[in-house]
Amino acid sequence: MSDMKRIVIVGGVAGGASTAARARRLSEEAQIILIERGQYVSFANCGLPYYLGGRIADRSRLLVATAAGLRKRFRIDVRTQTEVLRIDRAAKKVTVRTSDGAEADVEYDTLVLSPGAAPVRPPVPGFDHPRVFTLRNMADIDCIKQYVDEHKPKRAAVIGAGYIGLEMTEAFRDLKVDVTLIELMEQVFGPIDPEMAAPLAEHLALHGVDLRLGTAVQRVDDDGGKPVLTLSTGEKAAFDLAILAIGVRPETTLATEAGLKIGPTGGIAVDEHMRTSDPDIYAVGDAVEVTHLVAHAAALIPLAGPANRQGRIAADCIFGRDSRYRNTQGTSICKVFDLAVGMTGMSEKALKKAGTRYEKIYVHPSSHAGYYPGAQTLSLKLLFDPADGRILGAQAVGASGVDKRIDVLATALRAGMTVFDLQDLELCYAPPFGSAKDPVNYAGFVAANAIKGDVALCHYADVSTPRTDQILLDVRTPEEVRSGTIARAVNIPLDDLRDRLSELPRDKEILAFCKVGLRGYLACRILKQHGLACRNLSGGYTTYKAFAHAMDKGDTSPRCRTVASDTGAEPEPSAGAGKDCCGGAHCDNAPKAASVVRIIDASGLQCPGPIMKLRAAIDELAEGQSVSIRASDAAFAGDVPAWCASTGNRLVAMVRDTGHFVATVEKRLAAHSAAPAGHLGKGKTIVVFSDDFDKAIASFIIANGAASMGSDVTMFFTFWGLNVLRKEAPVKVRKTLVERMFGWMMPRGAGKLKLSKMHMAGMGKAMISGIMKKKNVLSLPELIAAARAAGVKLVACTMSMDLMGIKAEELIEGVTAGGVAMYLQTAEQGGVNLFI
Ligand code: FAD
Repeated sequence: MSDMKRIVIVGGVAGGASTAARARRLSEEAQIILIERGQYVSFANCGLPYYLGGRIADRSRLLVATAAGLRKRFRIDVRTQTEVLRIDRAAKKVTVRTSDGAEADVEYDTLVLSPGAAPVRPPVPGFDHPRVFTLRNMADIDCIKQYVDEHKPKRAAVIGAGYIGLEMTEAFRDLKVDVTLIELMEQVFGPIDPEMAAPLAEHLALHGVDLRLGTAVQRVDDDGGKPVLTLSTGEKAAFDLAILAIGVRPETTLATEAGLKIGPTGGIAVDEHMRTSDPDIYAVGDAVEVTHLVAHAAALIPLAGPANRQGRIAADCIFGRDSRYRNTQGTSICKVFDLAVGMTGMSEKALKKAGTRYEKIYVHPSSHAGYYPGAQTLSLKLLFDPADGRILGAQAVGASGVDKRIDVLATALRAGMTVFDLQDLELCYAPPFGSAKDPVNYAGFVAANAIKGDVALCHYADVSTPRTDQILLDVRTPEEVRSGTIARAVNIPLDDLRDRLSELPRDKEILAFCKVGLRGYLACRILKQHGLACRNLSGGYTTYKAFAHAMDKGDTSPRCRTVASDTGAEPEPSAGAGKDCCGGAHCDNAPKAASVVRIIDASGLQCPGPIMKLRAAIDELAEGQSVSIRASDAAFAGDVPAWCASTGNRLVAMVRDTGHFVATVEKRLAAHSAAPAGHLGKGKTIVVFSDDFDKAIASFIIANGAASMGSDVTMFFTFWGLNVLRKEAPVKVRKTLVERMFGWMMPRGAGKLKLSKMHMAGMGKAMISGIMKKKNVLSLPELIAAARAAGVKLVACTMSMDLMGIKAEELIEGVTAGGVAMYLQTAEQGGVNLFI
């Protein structure tokens, strides 16, 4: 075959550019013409949402390769802003139209189609509204970004909770735009199973996203330029803009009009060499129909990896190599704020639909050794053939380590491995990265145990509606049970089980469960060896709750209620019952999406910074509205419950998240009014006698903390303490000589104070100031400003002022003068009085 080929490629991004570059690497002689309708070739469509949200700050970074670069390095004839209008297969030419409207013919020996897929825009009235955007390319993101930059939108609707919708949601939240995410399905991220998607929905709520599942947009009207969405729930809401991201459909117009074969799914039909029904025409990327690796059925799986590999294979085949595309398994991953969700192979719902036999297990191990900081729970679902253990699919959700596990499982699936093979995989391990038994090994053990019959498994459907000949056994501790269990479960903690076997009926099958499945497994092993029939709930109560959430049934036994006994009678509530909970991501009282109206990132701030921010945010909310605040300060976890208890606001949830704490707090007005200003015990007085820098800092930290907790704080500055309040610049005032001398000798203002110890000619103070800055502790002037803003009363002792010759004009703004009587009266009303 001669290399003097003329290869014409339609579409210059993932599949097209890959084909072109590979073709040049294989042939220096070929003439390669890359035709692209848009202005850019080879741009990073996958990075577009991150550019909008600001994580990718430099637009040019999205342009992975430029037309000029491709021309220079690969001698590719790149023709941008040129559209291929039709294919004349008989004459082996395409007709193109350039940006000036001129049409011309381009002949080919081989034609490669990589036109991609276009966003779906169903015929819903108003979807053509100018502020309903779709996102596919640079031009689209430029339009959206320009709108956002110019109009500073406050409310966005994102229609569709697939990966583009989720990424755009996060981008808008990064821009502090309120987002309503509307999804027709009852779950986000459609390719995975609903119970695996449930944590994502909770996480979106935590980030202030108003998530509407099972909701369709019925029409879009216009109100003064704004799109007004009518939802299937009957609601009508105006937004500043909307993003339509409900899926893509392959661009097949050229292929269809040229009479090329289109597959049953609507994509261009190709063989394993990426050749269409015309041997001189290849097609790659989102426009083609693929065969699913596991399902062995035709599928549309629009992903960048397959598009790139297919481009390479097409080029190989054009130059006579026997490269074959070995099907698509749908390995994908999506970032949803602090979580990642990934999958490979078939989902359970797809397996059910295809009528394929399968078994499944769930595990919830740590992303790395639990004792090493930062370990996060990783929820992993493995689907396999119960007969031979062949891996059929896997899904994972977690804050860390999802990509690694899904990639390992994708490789195992591609290699045709079984769950038994997973047990033997030797994966890299050190405490910061994994566990000696990696989650993948662990999933293999659990699945292999099930196949070997070491333990029989049961699932949500079994335990949510147990038969009369079955009994539910919760083997967790009573403390765990108090935080929620499955209705009608009997509680016998695992460690008591051997001694209490007689309490279990021998004529019933026992459905055992624990938190994640391990203790349930151990219980089943004990029971089985004592002759009792038992099955273990895979994934335990954690998976059960995810299912309950996904089925929108909530928890049958909400947190803070005690376990129902086997007779169905409810025991008396025990200590802790009925309290507001702080139970983490699966907290039963997790905020409804709509109630979280503000998200605050207080990461990096030291105490009392996060509490001060929380206080300020709560002050601006209406009763019933919630704020979600994220902090890295370790004290925050203890401070927030105390703050809520003190102010009467409600702590809805407190979760750990990638080394941070995220608290959701609901404003309770009654609580505020129950603690009126000046109420006995709520006041705090601090006498600041010292002008030592460190003591002044300590006074203001306490004052700010107390103010944040709703206290009326009065700081009474006397003697040397007055120097803290002095203006730094000299003020012209009448003074006696002695007063003037006194003024010269004393430090003038917060900036001139010295450390009480280790001053070391200012070095000590510089060091401590540096450390404070590094640790994000507010500087003294900032603390003073914050105290003033929080309403802390700064009182200068008039008697001391007189003695030391300090005039009112010399003091910073917002200081009032007061005497001992005023101080004593305030102190008498307060609960705390400090002398510093
Ligand atoms: P494209 O890359 O879309 O390229 C097709 C090109 O053909 C277009 O530029 C189009 O202008 C041009 N064209 C079409 N018709 C003609 C014509 N008649 N004449 C001339 N030119 C024409 N995939 C992932 O795997 N991971 C991700 O994280 C991910 N994120 C994404 C985020 C966004 C916002 C988007 C839009 C896509 C994302 N994808 C992701 C999907 C991935 O980008 C696609 O699967 C991949 O780009 C498909 O490559 P392609 O060559 O088939 O089509």
